[in-house]
Amino acid sequence: MAKDEEHIEVRCPECGAQVRVPVKEAEEKFKATCPNGHVVPLAKALG
Ligand SMILES: [Zn+2]
Repeated sequence: MAKDEEHIEVRCPECGAQVRVPVKEAEEKFKATCPNGHVVPLAKALG
């Protein structure tokens, strides 16, 4: 059984939207963009 690419889920601090980001992308960029265009920092989510 192939393992799906792992995602982390964070909540946008600006609007509260749920944002799913691939772990690889999170580790590279340390941020995500919520559906409403806000930048969500990920440093805390990654420990
Ligand atoms: Zn947002």
